[in-house]
Amino acid sequence: MARVAIIGGGVAGVSSALILSQLDIDITLFEAKDSLVGGPPFCHLHAGGNLYPDITDKERVQLLKESIEFAQYYPFCVDKRPTVIAYPKRFSKDVQDFIPTLKMLQLEYKKLIESSSANNILGDWEDYYSLYSRQELEELSKNEPKEQPSSTGEWLIPFAKYTNLDILQFPVIVVQEYGLNMFKLSAGAELTLNSIDTIDLNLNTEVKYIKKESGKYTINYLKNNKIDSQEFDFLINAAGFKSGYIDDMLGLHKDRMVEFKAAYITNWECGIKFPEIIFHGERGSKEGMAQFTPYPSNYFQLHGMSKDITLYKNGLAKATPKSAQPKLEDSFLEKIEYGWSQSELELRTKQAITHMGFFIPKFSQEAQRAFKPLYGAQQIPGCNISLRGAEVEFVKNYARCEIVKVSSATTMAKEIAKELKKLKLTNKDFTQNLTHLNNLKESELKSLSEAIAKTRGYPKELADVVNPMQL
Ligand SMILES: Cc1cc2nc3c(=O)[nH]c(=O)nc-3n(C[C@H](O)[C@H](O)[C@H](O)COP(=O)(O)OP(=O)(O)OC[C@H]3O[C@@H](n4cnc5c(N)ncnc54)[C@H](O)[C@@H]3O)c2cc1C
Repeated sequence: MARVAIIGGGVAGVSSALILSQLDIDITLFEAKDSLVGGPPFCHLHAGGNLYPDITDKERVQLLKESIEFAQYYPFCVDKRPTVIAYPKRFSKDVQDFIPTLKMLQLEYKKLIESSSANNILGDWEDYYSLYSRQELEELSKNEPKEQPSSTGEWLIPFAKYTNLDILQFPVIVVQEYGLNMFKLSAGAELTLNSIDTIDLNLNTEVKYIKKESGKYTINYLKNNKIDSQEFDFLINAAGFKSGYIDDMLGLHKDRMVEFKAAYITNWECGIKFPEIIFHGERGSKEGMAQFTPYPSNYFQLHGMSKDITLYKNGLAKATPKSAQPKLEDSFLEKIEYGWSQSELELRTKQAITHMGFFIPKFSQEAQRAFKPLYGAQQIPGCNISLRGAEVEFVKNYARCEIVKVSSATTMAKEIAKELKKLKLTNKDFTQNLTHLNNLKESELKSLSEAIAKTRGYPKELADVVNPMQL
Protein backbone atom coordinates (compact mmCIF):
# COMPACT_ATOMS: atom_id res chain seq x y z
CA MET A 1 0.00 0.00 0.00
CA ALA A 2 1.39 3.41 -0.94
CA ARG A 3 1.98 5.76 1.97
CA VAL A 4 0.76 9.36 1.73
CA ALA A 5 1.59 12.11 4.24
CA ILE A 6 -0.61 15.17 4.65
CA ILE A 7 0.88 18.15 6.50
CA GLY A 8 -1.93 20.32 7.87
CA GLY A 9 -5.43 19.52 9.11
CA GLY A 10 -7.27 22.57 7.79
CA VAL A 11 -10.09 22.15 5.30
CA ALA A 12 -7.57 21.30 2.54
CA GLY A 13 -5.86 18.58 4.59
CA VAL A 14 -9.04 16.97 5.95
CA SER A 15 -10.73 16.97 2.52
CA SER A 16 -7.63 15.31 1.04
CA ALA A 17 -7.63 12.63 3.76
CA LEU A 18 -11.34 12.00 3.34
CA ILE A 19 -11.32 11.64 -0.44
CA LEU A 20 -8.02 9.73 -0.67
CA SER A 21 -9.26 7.26 1.95
CA GLN A 22 -11.30 5.64 -0.86
CA LEU A 23 -8.14 4.68 -2.76
CA ASP A 24 -6.56 1.84 -0.75
CA ILE A 25 -3.66 3.94 0.40
CA ASP A 26 -2.21 4.46 3.81
CA ILE A 27 -2.73 8.07 4.97
CA THR A 28 -0.98 9.90 7.80
CA LEU A 29 -2.16 13.40 8.67
CA PHE A 30 0.03 15.68 10.80
CA GLU A 31 -1.63 18.66 12.50
CA ALA A 32 0.23 20.89 14.91
CA LYS A 33 -2.89 22.05 16.77
CA ASP A 34 -5.16 20.10 19.11
CA SER A 35 -8.14 20.12 16.72
CA LEU A 36 -8.85 20.15 12.99
CA VAL A 37 -9.96 23.12 10.87
CA GLY A 38 -8.55 25.59 13.37
CA GLY A 39 -6.80 27.91 10.92
CA PRO A 40 -8.21 31.14 9.51
CA PRO A 41 -11.99 31.37 9.87
CA PHE A 42 -14.70 31.11 7.23
CA CYS A 43 -18.40 31.88 7.30
CA HIS A 44 -19.50 32.20 3.68
CA LEU A 45 -20.03 29.66 0.88
CA HIS A 46 -18.99 31.65 -2.18
CA ALA A 47 -21.40 30.00 -4.61
CA GLY A 48 -20.72 32.36 -7.51
CA GLY A 49 -18.24 34.76 -5.89
CA ASN A 50 -20.82 37.55 -5.74
CA LEU A 51 -19.00 39.22 -2.85
CA TYR A 52 -16.12 40.03 -5.17
CA PRO A 53 -16.62 42.80 -7.72
CA ASP A 54 -13.23 42.18 -9.38
CA ILE A 55 -12.85 38.47 -10.13
CA THR A 56 -13.19 36.88 -13.57
CA ASP A 57 -16.31 35.07 -14.79
CA LYS A 58 -14.19 31.91 -15.00
CA GLU A 59 -13.40 32.15 -11.28
CA ARG A 60 -17.08 32.81 -10.47
CA VAL A 61 -18.20 29.68 -12.31
CA GLN A 62 -15.41 27.69 -10.66
CA LEU A 63 -16.55 28.92 -7.21
CA LEU A 64 -20.18 28.10 -8.04
CA LYS A 65 -19.36 24.51 -9.07
CA GLU A 66 -16.96 23.94 -6.20
CA SER A 67 -19.38 25.36 -3.62
CA ILE A 68 -22.12 23.00 -4.75
CA GLU A 69 -19.74 20.06 -4.49
CA PHE A 70 -18.46 21.23 -1.10
CA ALA A 71 -22.05 21.45 0.24
CA GLN A 72 -22.72 17.90 -1.03
CA TYR A 73 -19.79 16.63 1.06
CA TYR A 74 -20.35 18.78 4.14
CA PRO A 75 -24.08 19.70 4.32
CA PHE A 76 -23.92 19.62 8.13
CA CYS A 77 -21.88 22.83 8.23
CA VAL A 78 -24.01 24.79 5.73
CA ASP A 79 -26.27 27.55 7.06
CA LYS A 80 -29.02 27.90 4.49
CA ARG A 81 -29.90 31.57 4.40
CA PRO A 82 -29.56 33.99 1.49
CA THR A 83 -27.11 36.85 1.08
CA VAL A 84 -28.21 40.40 0.36
CA ILE A 85 -25.82 42.39 -1.81
CA ALA A 86 -26.27 46.14 -1.67
CA TYR A 87 -24.36 48.72 -3.70
CA PRO A 88 -24.07 52.00 -1.76
CA LYS A 89 -24.40 55.23 -3.77
CA ARG A 90 -20.84 56.12 -2.68
CA PHE A 91 -19.41 52.94 -4.33
CA SER A 92 -17.63 53.52 -7.63
CA LYS A 93 -19.41 50.64 -9.39
CA ASP A 94 -22.98 50.69 -10.72
CA VAL A 95 -25.24 47.83 -9.59
CA GLN A 96 -26.83 47.66 -13.06
CA ASP A 97 -23.47 46.57 -14.52
CA PHE A 98 -23.49 43.48 -12.29
CA ILE A 99 -26.82 42.13 -13.49
CA PRO A 100 -25.42 40.36 -16.63
CA THR A 101 -23.00 38.51 -14.30
CA LEU A 102 -25.93 37.30 -12.18
CA LYS A 103 -27.75 36.12 -15.32
CA MET A 104 -24.64 34.26 -16.46
CA LEU A 105 -24.32 32.51 -13.07
CA GLN A 106 -28.02 31.65 -13.04
CA LEU A 107 -27.66 29.88 -16.40
CA GLU A 108 -24.54 28.06 -15.23
CA TYR A 109 -26.47 26.85 -12.19
CA LYS A 110 -29.33 25.71 -14.48
CA LYS A 111 -26.83 23.69 -16.55
CA LEU A 112 -25.43 22.08 -13.41
CA ILE A 113 -28.90 21.01 -12.28
CA GLU A 114 -29.64 19.66 -15.77
CA SER A 115 -26.44 17.58 -15.63
CA SER A 116 -27.40 16.14 -12.21
CA SER A 117 -30.35 16.79 -9.94
CA ALA A 118 -27.96 16.29 -6.98
CA ASN A 119 -26.55 19.71 -7.87
CA ASN A 120 -29.82 21.33 -6.84
CA ILE A 121 -28.28 22.64 -3.63
CA LEU A 122 -29.12 26.33 -3.86
CA GLY A 123 -32.85 25.99 -4.63
CA ASP A 124 -34.54 26.42 -8.02
CA TRP A 125 -32.28 27.94 -10.66
CA GLU A 126 -34.86 30.68 -11.40
CA ASP A 127 -34.44 31.84 -7.79
CA TYR A 128 -30.61 31.92 -7.83
CA TYR A 129 -30.87 35.68 -7.61
CA SER A 130 -33.68 38.21 -7.11
CA LEU A 131 -33.74 41.98 -7.49
CA TYR A 132 -35.66 44.35 -5.22
CA SER A 133 -36.61 47.94 -5.98
CA ARG A 134 -36.81 50.61 -3.29
CA GLN A 135 -40.59 50.51 -3.45
CA GLU A 136 -40.65 46.73 -2.90
CA LEU A 137 -38.31 47.06 0.08
CA GLU A 138 -40.44 49.82 1.58
CA GLU A 139 -43.47 47.54 1.28
CA LEU A 140 -41.57 44.70 2.96
CA SER A 141 -40.46 46.98 5.79
CA LYS A 142 -44.10 47.30 6.93
CA ASN A 143 -44.08 43.60 7.98
CA GLU A 144 -42.83 42.14 11.24
CA PRO A 145 -39.71 39.92 10.88
CA LYS A 146 -40.59 36.21 10.80
CA GLU A 147 -39.44 33.77 13.45
CA GLN A 148 -38.60 31.28 10.70
CA PRO A 149 -38.31 33.06 7.32
CA SER A 150 -39.14 30.72 4.47
CA SER A 151 -39.13 32.87 1.32
CA THR A 152 -36.60 35.37 -0.01
CA GLY A 153 -39.07 38.18 0.71
CA GLU A 154 -39.43 37.06 4.33
CA TRP A 155 -35.64 36.95 4.77
CA LEU A 156 -35.51 40.49 3.45
CA ILE A 157 -37.91 42.02 5.99
CA PRO A 158 -35.21 42.77 8.62
CA PHE A 159 -32.93 44.24 5.93
CA ALA A 160 -35.76 46.45 4.64
CA LYS A 161 -36.72 47.56 8.17
CA TYR A 162 -33.29 48.38 9.59
CA THR A 163 -31.12 49.50 6.65
CA ASN A 164 -30.86 53.15 5.66
CA LEU A 165 -32.26 52.80 2.13
CA ASP A 166 -31.48 56.46 1.29
CA ILE A 167 -27.77 55.67 0.81
CA LEU A 168 -28.19 52.66 -1.49
CA GLN A 169 -28.39 52.11 -5.24
CA PHE A 170 -31.30 50.03 -6.54
CA PRO A 171 -32.10 47.30 -7.20
CA VAL A 172 -30.79 45.49 -4.14
CA ILE A 173 -29.66 41.95 -5.00
CA VAL A 174 -30.39 38.75 -3.11
CA VAL A 175 -28.31 35.67 -4.04
CA GLN A 176 -28.49 32.09 -2.81
CA GLU A 177 -25.02 32.13 -1.28
CA TYR A 178 -25.23 30.43 2.11
CA GLY A 179 -23.27 30.49 5.35
CA LEU A 180 -20.69 27.98 6.60
CA ASN A 181 -19.88 26.99 10.16
CA MET A 182 -16.22 26.23 10.81
CA PHE A 183 -16.77 24.65 14.25
CA LYS A 184 -19.23 22.15 12.78
CA LEU A 185 -16.77 21.30 10.02
CA SER A 186 -13.99 20.89 12.57
CA ALA A 187 -16.10 18.45 14.62
CA GLY A 188 -17.44 16.56 11.58
CA ALA A 189 -13.93 16.15 10.20
CA GLU A 190 -12.53 14.84 13.48
CA LEU A 191 -15.37 12.33 13.99
CA THR A 192 -15.13 11.15 10.39
CA LEU A 193 -11.36 10.85 10.05
CA ASN A 194 -11.15 8.99 13.37
CA SER A 195 -13.66 6.45 12.05
CA ILE A 196 -11.60 5.49 8.97
CA ASP A 197 -9.08 2.67 9.51
CA THR A 198 -6.62 3.72 6.80
CA ILE A 199 -6.16 7.23 8.26
CA ASP A 200 -3.64 7.83 11.01
CA LEU A 201 -4.67 11.19 12.49
CA ASN A 202 -1.94 12.89 14.51
CA LEU A 203 -3.08 16.02 16.36
CA ASN A 204 -0.59 18.06 18.44
CA THR A 205 2.09 16.93 15.99
CA GLU A 206 4.34 19.40 14.21
CA VAL A 207 6.41 18.53 11.14
CA LYS A 208 9.91 19.88 11.77
CA TYR A 209 11.94 18.85 8.73
CA ILE A 210 11.74 16.70 5.64
CA LYS A 211 14.36 14.78 3.69
CA LYS A 212 13.81 13.54 0.15
CA GLU A 213 15.93 10.56 -0.93
CA SER A 214 15.45 8.03 -3.74
CA GLY A 215 11.98 9.42 -4.45
CA LYS A 216 10.77 8.92 -0.84
CA TYR A 217 10.04 11.54 1.81
CA THR A 218 11.27 11.09 5.36
CA ILE A 219 9.17 13.30 7.61
CA ASN A 220 10.50 14.25 11.02
CA TYR A 221 7.90 15.42 13.48
CA LEU A 222 7.54 16.47 17.08
CA LYS A 223 4.87 14.59 19.05
CA ASN A 224 4.66 14.23 22.83
CA ASN A 225 7.97 16.15 23.18
CA LYS A 226 9.73 13.52 21.06
CA ILE A 227 11.09 13.72 17.52
CA ASP A 228 10.06 10.73 15.38
CA SER A 229 10.20 10.01 11.67
CA GLN A 230 8.33 8.06 9.01
CA GLU A 231 8.86 7.45 5.29
CA PHE A 232 6.26 8.22 2.60
CA ASP A 233 5.77 7.80 -1.15
CA PHE A 234 3.78 10.99 -1.68
CA LEU A 235 3.61 14.27 0.23
CA ILE A 236 0.69 16.71 0.43
CA ASN A 237 1.51 20.20 1.65
CA ALA A 238 -1.74 21.52 3.17
CA ALA A 239 -0.02 23.78 5.70
CA GLY A 240 -2.11 26.87 4.85
CA PHE A 241 -0.25 30.12 5.42
CA LYS A 242 2.81 28.12 6.52
CA SER A 243 3.02 26.19 3.20
CA GLY A 244 6.12 28.18 2.25
CA TYR A 245 8.07 26.61 5.15
CA ILE A 246 7.40 23.17 3.67
CA ASP A 247 8.53 24.38 0.23
CA ASP A 248 11.67 25.76 1.86
CA MET A 249 12.36 22.40 3.58
CA LEU A 250 12.22 20.77 0.14
CA GLY A 251 14.28 23.48 -1.59
CA LEU A 252 11.36 24.45 -3.86
CA HIS A 253 10.46 28.01 -4.78
CA LYS A 254 6.94 29.34 -5.21
CA ASP A 255 5.53 32.87 -5.45
CA ARG A 256 2.81 33.37 -2.92
CA MET A 257 1.34 35.94 -0.58
CA VAL A 258 0.05 35.66 2.96
CA GLU A 259 -2.62 38.00 4.32
CA PHE A 260 -3.68 38.55 7.93
CA LYS A 261 -7.37 39.43 8.43
CA ALA A 262 -9.89 39.54 11.26
CA ALA A 263 -13.67 39.51 11.73
CA TYR A 264 -15.35 40.78 14.91
CA ILE A 265 -17.98 39.12 17.08
CA THR A 266 -20.73 41.36 18.42
CA ASN A 267 -23.95 40.92 20.29
CA TRP A 268 -27.16 42.75 19.28
CA GLU A 269 -30.16 41.78 21.40
CA CYS A 270 -32.62 42.23 18.54
CA GLY A 271 -34.08 38.70 18.52
CA ILE A 272 -34.32 38.77 14.72
CA LYS A 273 -33.15 36.27 12.09
CA PHE A 274 -31.20 38.30 9.54
CA PRO A 275 -29.82 37.15 6.20
CA GLU A 276 -26.13 37.75 5.51
CA ILE A 277 -25.64 41.29 4.17
CA ILE A 278 -22.85 42.74 2.02
CA PHE A 279 -22.51 46.48 1.55
CA HIS A 280 -19.95 46.90 -1.19
CA GLY A 281 -17.04 49.34 -0.99
CA GLU A 282 -13.49 50.05 -2.19
CA ARG A 283 -11.16 47.42 -0.66
CA GLY A 284 -8.61 48.98 1.69
CA SER A 285 -10.30 52.39 1.88
CA LYS A 286 -12.24 53.78 4.88
CA GLU A 287 -15.37 52.90 2.90
CA GLY A 288 -14.35 49.25 2.31
CA MET A 289 -16.96 46.51 2.00
CA ALA A 290 -19.00 45.82 5.17
CA GLN A 291 -20.15 42.24 5.79
CA PHE A 292 -22.83 41.40 8.36
CA THR A 293 -22.95 37.69 9.21
CA PRO A 294 -25.67 36.37 11.55
CA TYR A 295 -25.13 33.56 14.05
CA PRO A 296 -27.77 32.16 16.43
CA SER A 297 -28.61 33.87 19.75
CA ASN A 298 -28.13 37.46 18.58
CA TYR A 299 -24.43 37.12 17.67
CA PHE A 300 -23.32 38.99 14.56
CA GLN A 301 -19.90 38.80 12.94
CA LEU A 302 -18.56 41.87 11.15
CA HIS A 303 -15.96 42.26 8.43
CA GLY A 304 -14.96 45.72 7.24
CA MET A 305 -12.51 45.75 4.35
CA SER A 306 -10.71 48.82 5.63
CA LYS A 307 -7.27 48.96 7.26
CA ASP A 308 -8.85 49.91 10.63
CA ILE A 309 -11.01 46.81 10.77
CA THR A 310 -10.44 43.55 8.87
CA LEU A 311 -7.33 44.52 6.91
CA TYR A 312 -4.05 45.81 8.34
CA LYS A 313 -1.29 48.13 7.26
CA ASN A 314 1.52 45.69 6.36
CA GLY A 315 -0.92 42.79 6.78
CA LEU A 316 0.08 41.39 3.38
CA ALA A 317 3.49 39.74 2.95
CA LYS A 318 5.10 38.26 -0.18
CA ALA A 319 7.54 35.41 -0.76
CA THR A 320 11.08 36.49 -1.65
CA PRO A 321 13.62 34.87 -4.01
CA LYS A 322 15.33 33.51 -0.86
CA SER A 323 12.24 31.97 0.76
CA ALA A 324 8.90 30.64 -0.42
CA GLN A 325 7.47 31.62 2.98
CA PRO A 326 6.17 35.21 3.11
CA LYS A 327 7.22 36.77 6.42
CA LEU A 328 4.39 38.48 8.29
CA GLU A 329 5.45 41.02 10.89
CA ASP A 330 5.87 39.60 14.41
CA SER A 331 2.79 41.44 15.71
CA PHE A 332 0.58 39.29 13.44
CA LEU A 333 2.33 36.04 14.29
CA GLU A 334 2.02 36.90 18.00
CA LYS A 335 -1.73 37.41 17.59
CA ILE A 336 -2.05 34.03 15.85
CA GLU A 337 0.07 32.31 18.48
CA TYR A 338 -0.90 34.10 21.72
CA GLY A 339 -4.00 36.24 21.10
CA TRP A 340 -4.92 39.93 21.16
CA SER A 341 -4.34 42.78 23.56
CA GLN A 342 -7.60 43.86 25.17
CA SER A 343 -7.21 47.46 23.96
CA GLU A 344 -6.76 46.54 20.28
CA LEU A 345 -9.62 44.09 20.43
CA GLU A 346 -11.93 46.75 21.93
CA LEU A 347 -10.84 49.45 19.48
CA ARG A 348 -11.16 47.39 16.31
CA THR A 349 -14.52 45.90 17.32
CA LYS A 350 -15.80 49.42 18.06
CA GLN A 351 -14.61 50.58 14.66
CA ALA A 352 -16.33 47.60 13.02
CA ILE A 353 -19.62 48.44 14.78
CA THR A 354 -19.39 52.11 13.71
CA HIS A 355 -18.56 51.09 10.12
CA MET A 356 -21.69 48.90 10.01
CA GLY A 357 -23.73 51.66 11.66
CA PHE A 358 -23.46 53.76 8.51
CA PHE A 359 -25.78 51.21 6.86
CA ILE A 360 -27.72 49.85 9.86
CA PRO A 361 -27.91 52.78 12.33
CA LYS A 362 -29.80 50.92 15.08
CA PHE A 363 -27.09 48.25 15.10
CA SER A 364 -24.37 50.73 16.02
CA GLN A 365 -26.56 52.26 18.75
CA GLU A 366 -27.27 48.91 20.43
CA ALA A 367 -24.56 46.34 19.54
CA GLN A 368 -21.76 45.43 21.96
CA ARG A 369 -18.45 43.68 21.60
CA ALA A 370 -19.07 40.01 22.47
CA PHE A 371 -15.93 37.90 22.23
CA LYS A 372 -12.47 37.86 20.74
CA PRO A 373 -12.37 38.17 16.94
CA LEU A 374 -12.19 35.29 14.46
CA TYR A 375 -8.92 35.84 12.65
CA GLY A 376 -5.91 34.36 10.95
CA ALA A 377 -3.60 34.40 7.97
CA GLN A 378 -4.36 32.78 4.65
CA GLN A 379 -2.18 32.05 1.67
CA ILE A 380 -2.87 33.38 -1.82
CA PRO A 381 -0.79 31.69 -4.52
CA GLY A 382 0.99 33.89 -7.07
CA CYS A 383 0.91 37.69 -7.02
CA ASN A 384 -2.74 38.57 -7.69
CA ILE A 385 -4.45 39.74 -4.49
CA SER A 386 -7.92 39.40 -6.10
CA LEU A 387 -7.44 35.69 -6.89
CA ARG A 388 -10.13 33.49 -5.33
CA GLY A 389 -10.11 30.31 -7.38
CA ALA A 390 -6.79 28.43 -7.04
CA GLU A 391 -6.51 24.73 -6.19
CA VAL A 392 -3.43 22.48 -6.29
CA GLU A 393 -0.04 22.26 -8.01
CA PHE A 394 2.06 19.11 -8.49
CA VAL A 395 5.83 18.69 -8.49
CA LYS A 396 6.67 14.99 -8.98
CA ASN A 397 5.33 13.14 -5.87
CA TYR A 398 4.44 16.38 -4.13
CA ALA A 399 1.09 18.19 -4.06
CA ARG A 400 1.00 21.80 -2.95
CA CYS A 401 -2.54 22.73 -1.88
CA GLU A 402 -3.40 26.29 -2.86
CA ILE A 403 -6.95 26.96 -1.89
CA VAL A 404 -8.05 30.54 -1.30
CA LYS A 405 -11.71 29.78 -0.55
CA VAL A 406 -12.67 26.68 1.42
CA SER A 407 -15.12 25.53 -1.25
CA SER A 408 -12.15 24.61 -3.49
CA ALA A 409 -11.03 21.91 -1.04
CA THR A 410 -13.03 18.90 -2.28
CA THR A 411 -12.36 19.63 -5.97
CA MET A 412 -8.68 20.02 -5.12
CA ALA A 413 -8.63 16.70 -3.24
CA LYS A 414 -10.12 14.93 -6.27
CA GLU A 415 -7.29 16.32 -8.42
CA ILE A 416 -4.81 14.75 -5.98
CA ALA A 417 -6.68 11.43 -6.23
CA LYS A 418 -6.30 11.53 -10.05
CA GLU A 419 -2.59 12.32 -9.72
CA LEU A 420 -2.05 9.31 -7.41
CA LYS A 421 -3.69 7.08 -10.03
CA LYS A 422 -1.54 8.61 -12.76
CA LEU A 423 1.57 7.87 -10.69
CA LYS A 424 0.32 4.28 -10.17
CA LEU A 425 0.31 4.72 -6.39
CA THR A 426 -3.25 3.42 -6.49
CA ASN A 427 -5.31 1.64 -9.12
CA LYS A 428 -8.61 2.75 -7.64
CA ASP A 429 -10.77 5.74 -8.55
CA PHE A 430 -12.53 7.83 -5.95
CA THR A 431 -16.30 7.57 -5.93
CA GLN A 432 -18.95 9.96 -4.69
CA ASN A 433 -19.43 7.57 -1.76
CA LEU A 434 -19.94 9.67 1.35
CA THR A 435 -20.79 6.87 3.77
CA HIS A 436 -18.50 8.07 6.53
CA LEU A 437 -19.86 11.60 6.42
CA ASN A 438 -23.42 10.38 6.13
CA ASN A 439 -22.95 8.30 9.27
CA LEU A 440 -22.32 11.37 11.43
CA LYS A 441 -24.67 11.57 14.40
CA GLU A 442 -26.24 14.99 15.00
CA SER A 443 -25.86 14.70 18.80
CA GLU A 444 -22.12 13.89 18.56
CA LEU A 445 -21.58 16.65 16.04
CA LYS A 446 -23.33 19.17 18.27
CA SER A 447 -21.49 18.30 21.45
CA LEU A 448 -18.05 18.15 19.81
CA SER A 449 -18.50 21.37 17.80
CA GLU A 450 -19.67 23.21 20.94
CA ALA A 451 -16.72 21.84 22.90
CA ILE A 452 -14.31 22.98 20.16
CA ALA A 453 -15.84 26.49 20.13
CA LYS A 454 -15.48 26.66 23.93
CA THR A 455 -11.87 25.43 23.90
CA ARG A 456 -11.03 28.10 21.33
CA GLY A 457 -12.59 30.77 23.56
CA TYR A 458 -15.92 31.36 21.76
CA PRO A 459 -19.51 30.88 22.96
CA LYS A 460 -21.11 27.54 22.12
CA GLU A 461 -23.80 29.33 20.06
CA LEU A 462 -21.17 30.10 17.41
CA ALA A 463 -21.01 26.36 16.73
CA ASP A 464 -24.65 26.35 15.66
CA VAL A 465 -26.34 27.42 12.43
CA VAL A 466 -29.35 29.71 11.97
CA ASN A 467 -31.03 27.58 9.33
CA PRO A 468 -29.65 24.03 8.92
CA MET A 469 -29.54 22.57 5.43
CA GLN A 470 -31.84 19.61 4.79
CA LEU A 471 -30.68 17.36 1.96
C1 LIG B 1 -10.79 36.66 8.36
C2 LIG B 1 -10.91 35.59 7.30
C3 LIG B 1 -12.19 35.27 6.81
C4 LIG B 1 -12.34 34.30 5.82
N1 LIG B 1 -13.60 34.00 5.39
C5 LIG B 1 -13.77 33.04 4.47
C6 LIG B 1 -15.09 32.68 4.03
O1 LIG B 1 -16.08 33.24 4.49
N2 LIG B 1 -15.21 31.71 3.09
C7 LIG B 1 -14.13 31.05 2.57
O2 LIG B 1 -14.32 30.17 1.73
N3 LIG B 1 -12.87 31.35 2.97
C8 LIG B 1 -12.67 32.32 3.90
N4 LIG B 1 -11.40 32.61 4.33
C9 LIG B 1 -10.28 31.84 3.79
C10 LIG B 1 -10.17 30.48 4.46
O3 LIG B 1 -10.16 30.63 5.86
C11 LIG B 1 -8.90 29.75 4.03
O4 LIG B 1 -8.81 29.74 2.66
C12 LIG B 1 -8.89 28.30 4.49
O5 LIG B 1 -9.19 28.16 5.84
C13 LIG B 1 -7.54 27.69 4.19
O6 LIG B 1 -7.58 26.33 4.54
P1 LIG B 1 -6.27 25.46 4.49
O7 LIG B 1 -6.65 24.09 4.87
O8 LIG B 1 -5.57 25.66 3.20
O9 LIG B 1 -5.29 26.12 5.57
P2 LIG B 1 -5.40 26.20 7.17
O10 LIG B 1 -6.78 26.18 7.63
O11 LIG B 1 -4.51 27.31 7.58
O12 LIG B 1 -4.77 24.82 7.63
C14 LIG B 1 -3.39 24.59 7.66
C15 LIG B 1 -3.08 23.73 8.87
O13 LIG B 1 -1.73 23.30 8.77
C16 LIG B 1 -1.19 23.22 10.08
N5 LIG B 1 0.26 23.25 9.95
C17 LIG B 1 1.02 24.23 9.37
N6 LIG B 1 2.33 23.89 9.43
C18 LIG B 1 2.39 22.67 10.03
C19 LIG B 1 3.46 21.78 10.38
N7 LIG B 1 4.74 22.09 10.12
N8 LIG B 1 3.15 20.61 11.01
C20 LIG B 1 1.86 20.28 11.29
N9 LIG B 1 0.81 21.09 10.99
C21 LIG B 1 1.09 22.25 10.37
C22 LIG B 1 -1.78 24.44 10.78
O14 LIG B 1 -1.78 24.29 12.19
C23 LIG B 1 -3.18 24.50 10.18
O15 LIG B 1 -4.14 23.87 11.00
C24 LIG B 1 -11.20 33.61 5.31
C25 LIG B 1 -9.92 33.93 5.80
C26 LIG B 1 -9.77 34.89 6.79
C27 LIG B 1 -8.38 35.20 7.29
